[in-house]
Amino acid sequence: MIPFVSRVGPSEQAVWIKQLSAAMPDEIILPFSALTLEQRQQCDVAIVANPNPEDLMALPALKWVHSVWAGVERIINELESPTFSIVRLVDANLANTMSEAVLAWTLFLHRDMPAYAKQQADQLWCPRPMVQAQDRRIGVLGLGALGRVSAQRLANNGFSVAGWSRSEKHIEGIQCFHGKDGLTALLRQSDILVCLLPLTSETKNLLNQQNLSYLPNGASLINFARGAIIDDHALLAQLDQKHLSHAVLDVFMQEPLSTEHAYWSHKSVTVLPHISAPTHPVSASQIVASNIHHYRLTGLIPAVVDPIRGY
Ligand code: NAP
Repeated sequence: MIPFVSRVGPSEQAVWIKQLSAAMPDEIILPFSALTLEQRQQCDVAIVANPNPEDLMALPALKWVHSVWAGVERIINELESPTFSIVRLVDANLANTMSEAVLAWTLFLHRDMPAYAKQQADQLWCPRPMVQAQDRRIGVLGLGALGRVSAQRLANNGFSVAGWSRSEKHIEGIQCFHGKDGLTALLRQSDILVCLLPLTSETKNLLNQQNLSYLPNGASLINFARGAIIDDHALLAQLDQKHLSHAVLDVFMQEPLSTEHAYWSHKSVTVLPHISAPTHPVSASQIVASNIHHYRLTGLIPAVVDPIRGY
């Protein structure tokens, strides 16, 4: 018996329980609220989606939890010294969805669509200089499960792609930077910057006034990671000063974005409602099922999140 511990609404919870049960016919998946006191004492694994920390604390035998989401900053921040391990979702289907979004919005910026939309509003017939894909330099922050596939998809579409990670990487067709010095070098050469970093104590506010100023004049930004990685005031200032030309933002400090926020009406900002790569319950459930099946057979917990590192 495996509890599904979550603060998602009832209809979303029903979808997850249905898909998880279909993927694990040998297991019984129950919402946390349906567990008896005795069952709570026995669970060694739980499946979570934005769980209430108190619910997890009520499961004393828990060895690990499997999140059905890729980003785990919230569960890490909310749990004080957990006695169990946290496994996050790593799903090739999700990486493919994210790389599709990265390609779509990179093309939007690359082919000057924001500028042509403004020109149409002004009834202005004015072809802009054409830049070839190989001359458009894209920088991808984060070369993990999502960043790597996105960088490769951009390179396969002819762009000149570089990426940045914490540890050194060698990826065919991608110029790889790492560490603090590598960040400045990458920013200085990124006409379009794509953020796919996890939110951690090190990446919070990473895209501040100084780091944004390293981007070339007229550069654009895509943030598909987490809102708090960007200093909103610094970004708005750089857009107003025309140092940066456009930002495509899918994630925000506060979601839904407050109706008063300056991003909504800013001519150089595209606001998206956190849709770049939604978790797909069918493929996610299959991955969770496979990890739990492997654990049942071997006792081995899959690769876990490092709570100190934050991802
Ligand atoms: P991941 O596999 O953990 O990869 C993270 C990457 O960031 C790694 O390459 C890592 O470097 C790098 N990194 C982390 N901290 C760094 C630092 N301080 N300096 C330099 N590089 C650093 O994560 P993922 O699965 O690709 O997901 C990334 C994020 O996307 C998630 O955390 C989530 O917030 C976000 N996301 C958004 C959506 C959406 O719909 N908008 C959907 C899914 C996920 P190393 O390789 O050296 O470890």
